Amino acid sequence: MAARVRGSDLLDRTGSPGLRYNRIRPLQTMVSQQPSTPLMRQYQAIKKQSPNCLLMFRLGDFYELFYEDAIVASRDLEITLTSRNKEKGQPIPMCGVPAHTLDGYIAKLIAKGHRVAVCDQVEDARKAKKLVRREVTRIVTPGTASDLNLLQPGENNYLAAIVEKQEQMGLAYVDISTGEFRMSEVPRGEAEKFLEHLSAREVLVPSAGPLFADSEASATDAPYLRTELDPWVFDVDYTQRILRDHFGLHSLDGLGASQHPGAVAAAGAILHYLRDTQRTSLEHLEPPTYFRRQDHMVLDLVTVRNLELIEPLFGGRAQSTLLGVIDQTETAMGKRLLRQWLLRPSVDGGEIGSRLDGVEDLFEQTISRAEIGRELSRIQDIERLLAKVTLGSANPRELLALGSSLRPLPILRALLAQCDSSRLRELSERIDELADVRERVVNTLADEPPALVSAGGVIREGIDPDLDELRGIRKNSRAYIARMEGRERERTGIQSLKVRFNNVFGFYIEVSKANLSLVPDDYDRKQTLVNAERFITPELKEYEQKVLEAEERILEREQALVEEVRADVAAQAKRIRATATAVAELDVLRCFAQVAAEHGYVRPQLNSGHEIQIESGRHPVVERLAETEQAERFIPNDVYLNSDDHLLAIITGPNMGGKSTYLRQTALIVILAQMGSFVPASRASLPVVDRIFTRIGASDNLAMGRSTFMMEMTEAAEILNTATSSSLILLDEIGRGTATFDGLAIAWAVVEFIHGRTRAKTLFATHYHELTELADLLAGVVNLHVSVKEAGDRVVFLRKVAPGKADRSYGIEVARLAGLPDGVIERARSVLARHEQGEQTVSQELSSDSPGGPVQVSIFTPTEPGIAEELKSLNLDEMRPIEALALLEHWKQRLRDGPKQSGAATPADRR
Ligand code: ATP
Repeated sequence: MAARVRGSDLLDRTGSPGLRYNRIRPLQTMVSQQPSTPLMRQYQAIKKQSPNCLLMFRLGDFYELFYEDAIVASRDLEITLTSRNKEKGQPIPMCGVPAHTLDGYIAKLIAKGHRVAVCDQVEDARKAKKLVRREVTRIVTPGTASDLNLLQPGENNYLAAIVEKQEQMGLAYVDISTGEFRMSEVPRGEAEKFLEHLSAREVLVPSAGPLFADSEASATDAPYLRTELDPWVFDVDYTQRILRDHFGLHSLDGLGASQHPGAVAAAGAILHYLRDTQRTSLEHLEPPTYFRRQDHMVLDLVTVRNLELIEPLFGGRAQSTLLGVIDQTETAMGKRLLRQWLLRPSVDGGEIGSRLDGVEDLFEQTISRAEIGRELSRIQDIERLLAKVTLGSANPRELLALGSSLRPLPILRALLAQCDSSRLRELSERIDELADVRERVVNTLADEPPALVSAGGVIREGIDPDLDELRGIRKNSRAYIARMEGRERERTGIQSLKVRFNNVFGFYIEVSKANLSLVPDDYDRKQTLVNAERFITPELKEYEQKVLEAEERILEREQALVEEVRADVAAQAKRIRATATAVAELDVLRCFAQVAAEHGYVRPQLNSGHEIQIESGRHPVVERLAETEQAERFIPNDVYLNSDDHLLAIITGPNMGGKSTYLRQTALIVILAQMGSFVPASRASLPVVDRIFTRIGASDNLAMGRSTFMMEMTEAAEILNTATSSSLILLDEIGRGTATFDGLAIAWAVVEFIHGRTRAKTLFATHYHELTELADLLAGVVNLHVSVKEAGDRVVFLRKVAPGKADRSYGIEVARLAGLPDGVIERARSVLARHEQGEQTVSQELSSDSPGGPVQVSIFTPTEPGIAEELKSLNLDEMRPIEALALLEHWKQRLRDGPKQSGAATPADRR
């Protein structure tokens, strides 16, 4: 598949200037001979211009593919592979799809990671003297798709570019289907993560250079199509120039990119590629603005996955994600913005506060909220419809959908103008009523136009006098024929004479055999039937010509008028796009207010005092599932962390007690607040968090050659190396993937490091009860536990988080609930009883802060701490072998009998 092709050896150097796409397959092999027919010569010439695309070649009513393209397409589209007349003795593989079904097939090919070039007939076949002229009219690639059936309504479709400049990775991305265009620079190691986070469908890279050379995975396993362009396309001077020219800017300083040549190079390469593949105006693109990653709260992929923000873990239902429970947007634009805010919550206190003001306003105004919701639901995807209009691919129905979607704008504007919050009033001002655009479209196009202009009837009556006249000719033809029929009957005396029309002969006069003797001389015989003969007359021929011409001119005129409307709308792209953005924001703010009203969320307060204070916080997803599935009622819990004496909370408690839920709900509440949403709690006061880190559960990444434990440690390393004092860290167990004492030692050291160095607020859920002792040793560490009630031999989960440590994990009780055989449960209980006698000594070993560091021991045979101490203090240089042996014997004895029984001398005595 194209996305999996490892580039350079398959690169083709014959593409259009600057483009060297990854090859789909070595397509040149089969078409290397000079074809013998003019048509195939034309095909080959066009194929050479788009060597890395599957070429869909228009032939009559079909789009055909030939040679390897046909083999690939027939396989991926599951259509029959046939062959065309032999080319030098070899049949040419061929497959085709009906022209009117083209878009559906392109969608399938794009989904499979192919690029498709559409080659159309660009002159009227009837007027062509020889071979009809054909040209590639568009190239569709995964990153440049704009057709609505190639796209998910609620998701962006990004094309990115990336290039190394001055030790930094310049990157940019665009969604051509909405016009969003942004650029940035990141340190070298972060580029790939950025692309993954963005979920880019296609990435442009320079065809030479060391990019990703150290990462095989990026070339072979990347979830995006990699497209290589000639390195000069990324040249800073060239890219600066084309960006300035395209956006009519004197300089790029206003975009914030003056110090970022890499970002400019990447953005310019995108523009170059779009121009080459789209061949249209691209007027809807916004100028690329520069952003820094830290302008938003950073949520890396692991965290996005662990917190189930967008996708459920373990293939659960889509509703069991944060996005699933908060998405009450009415428009596709709102849906996409909600997703963006979720993946990139704000870190700007002013912006968050202003969003919250807007939400609060809508929360309180129940009637306006409902009305706004109703109006929003009448708005289709303006952004994407506009993209289609400016790219020249909108059909009449889409054009009308755009026009009609502007109808609710005046009402929305008026509703917002009455609101109290400055955010909503500002939105009211940003919404342009676009009455001129709406009227132009709605007043010109018919109420229910066909999807294709060629079907006719797209333009209303009374818009264009020429069109009306032509339509008049067509309409009056029935009356004309009737008049002529009457006249001819009178003239010839043939009462059964008929004037008719059919597609083969056009207009004709039909006379039955019995009346043939009455036919006048000016009748010209056309066809003989069993009982009748058909004639034409010069008058009829002339009239036919007029009607047919009218038909043709009607279509041409309609086409031209639709094109004029399209161009008029495209000329207002900036205004329409700005309004679409404001509508999207309104939709999301209204969605937050609606969710808050329906589910009892409150407005969070922002504090600068570094305190996370949540009263009766709830997990938005678990709570919703509990409501809908009538499961256990959700128990709210408080959270308190600060940057001083409550920096890090160690949370212990039984398995299944609710520790993970507590951790996650804290993060979700923080994320919701920084998106500008109300939160599921009775009160919340929160600081602005720069980043949330999670280390939750076990995740193997065998594809990258990392074991579970290695992944766990990699994630932990990333946290410790990157977190700041403004971050929030969630650790849901750490070090479980190795021997118990190793794991405990690592967990212990991690807590000390966060406490001593990172100073990030941290929630740490663990079954290492030893860690609770850190609360006595470190001033910022506190213990929390999830409570349970023991009822006989049963455990009741109370789900309440309270200060202090838990005494047990109740793992065996949970194992029993899960149905482990009784024998295993009994045996486990007795093994645990034995182990618990020695468990205390392990933690003493750690908390004694001994310089020798932790010793790995087996959980079931704990080493007596005294022996370890003695071992450490031995001076071997001064010992004789016999003394060493005696000491070993002594320790053996002590381990067998326990320390109290042994009366032997200590090593110190022995020296
Ligand atoms: P383990 O230590 O085994 O990972 P845990 O303590 O992390 O367990 P969770 O996974 O958080 O436990 O919770 C287990 C289940 O309990 C959840 O799936 C959820 O359905 C339910 N639960 C958790 N917290 C609450 C709560 N506050 N109110 C109601 N149900 C809850």
